[in-house]
Formats: sequence, C-alpha cells, structure tokens
Amino acid sequence: MWADILEQIIFLVTHLRIRDIIDVAIVAFVFYKLFMLIKATRAEQVLKGLAVLLVVTKVSEWLDLYTINYLLRNAMTVGVIAILIVFQPELRRGLEQLGRGKFFDKNFFKLEKKHSFIVIKEIVKAVETLSQNKIGALIVIERKTGLSDIIQTGVKIQAVVSKELLCNIFVPNTPLHDGAVLIREDEIVAAGCFLPLTENPNLSKQLGTRHRAALGISENSDGIAIIVSEETGIISLASDGKLTRYLDSKSLEDILTEVYREKETTNPISTLKWRIKNE
Ligand code: ATP
Ligand code: MG
Repeated sequence: MWADILEQIIFLVTHLRIRDIIDVAIVAFVFYKLFMLIKATRAEQVLKGLAVLLVVTKVSEWLDLYTINYLLRNAMTVGVIAILIVFQPELRRGLEQLGRGKFFDKNFFKLEKKHSFIVIKEIVKAVETLSQNKIGALIVIERKTGLSDIIQTGVKIQAVVSKELLCNIFVPNTPLHDGAVLIREDEIVAAGCFLPLTENPNLSKQLGTRHRAALGISENSDGIAIIVSEETGIISLASDGKLTRYLDSKSLEDILTEVYREKETTNPISTLKWRIKNE
C-alpha cells in the first residue's frame, strides 16, 4: 500500500505542470476564503466533524474494516443532503455576497477614511458618555469573521452608528439594553445580542458576565468588544481573548483607528502602545 502511494507521489511530482500548480492554488484559495467565511460560526464545528468522518472513512477503507466502511460511506451519501440543510444560512450568505460581488473582499475596511473617522468618533463619544453615567454597555465590532449567528440572537436594527442611538440603546430598563450591540462597517446591525461566555478560569471574580461575554466573542472570532462597566464606569476592551481595562477615550480612539485601518494584521491591538494598565 505504501509503495503504491509513494509511486503515485513520484508520478505526480515528475508530471507536474505549471497549470496544475495554478489549479491547486486556486482551489486552495477558494477553500481558504470559504473557511474564513464560516470560521467561528456554527458551521466551523460541523465542518470539523465532517473532516473527522472523512478521515475515519478513508482509514477504515485502508484497514479493510468492511462494516464500518460500509456504514460510513452510506452515512456520507445522506451527509451531502445534511450539509445542504445545516449550511443553509452560510450558503445563502455566501451566495448573497457572491451576487453583490463581495465574496473576495469581505468587510468594513472599504469604508472611506473620512467616513470611518466619523464612525470612530461617534463610538468613542457614546462610550465616554456611558462611562461617565455608569451605564453598562457592550459593543462588538465585527471584523473579518462574520458574526451573523450572533446577530440572529438579538434584535435587528440596521441604523447608521451615532452617539445618540448607542446611548439610547443602553438606557437601563429599556427593551434593548440587555446584551450586546453589534457594529458592522458603519452600521449598528443589532442590539440585545447574546454572546458566548468565556470559560477562562483565570478571570478575576470581580468580572461578571458582561466582561465574560466580551471575552467569549473575542476568543471565538477576530471581532473586538468594548465594555463599559455598570458598577464602576471602567472602559475595557476584549480582543483576541485578552481583556484590557482602564481605557480612556484617547486610547479607545487610537485602538479603533487602528482596527478600522489595519487590514491584514491578525491582532493590530497588540502592536499599539497605549497609556493603559493591563489587567
Ligand atoms: P458590570 O461591571 O457592568 O457589572 P459585569 O461583568 O459585572 O459587568 P454583570 O453585572 O453580570 O457583568 O452584567 C450583566 C449584564 O451583562 C446583563 O444585564 C447583560 O446585559 C450583559 N450580559 C450578560 N451575559 C451576556 C451574554 N452572554 N451576551 C451578551 N450580554 C450579556
Ligand atoms: Mg456586575
């Protein structure tokens, strides 16, 4: 069996043409883009599960485990239909983006510089006011990872970001104040969203579910979450599974400017030098 595989590999390498490399590169690129599209959504887990099934099926074939292989292969046939059903929201989203010509340049970074400057100013002013008044708030800014799953847990808003609207949403005892606001590009897409809680055991006991939810989303996606504490008015930021506390408006503005500007850096936050204390 190994000799066969080796023979095939040698055959492939000796008969490799430039167009084969281009062919493989294109497929790899499309798969990468597809994976980025579904990363950190429910589909990611499903995809991992399927990959495991595929590997087990192949292994059972090599080891001549007929019954297991028979069952798995039949399960695969049903699996194709299951994939279409389970991935339906992602497929729809992907097709929508393809239709809008957005498939390959997903995200808010297309915003004009002047425009993103206004969005940042509005967010900072809102956070400042909320902090001064000790109104609890949780604002998530979507980056490359699509957070449509999260939006579905809240109430759709789809309004241009403004200080007034943000402040209004978090007024205690109003219908939308509970949960997180989600910002995509220059839009408040939803409010009252439920975020996954972090399971980090090392977190200070002082930090409750609002902070844990912010960390949770930053672990599960590349989105960042701004938190205003209801108890203390302290402004914090969760990014890449890390919490930075005691931010002032200037630091927040710097971070947001960097986030809205940087395209490719995985964690632009860590490259900044802020005047803040790290927890
Ligand atoms: P604070 O410093 O503001 O008190 P905290 O970290 O101590 O924050 P809690 O006091 O537990 O957190 O805050 C509760 C609020 O956090 C809820 O009313 C709700 O708005 C928000 N929250 C809790 N869990 C989630 C979640 N999973 N997703 C989104 N928001 C959440
Ligand atoms: Mg609390």
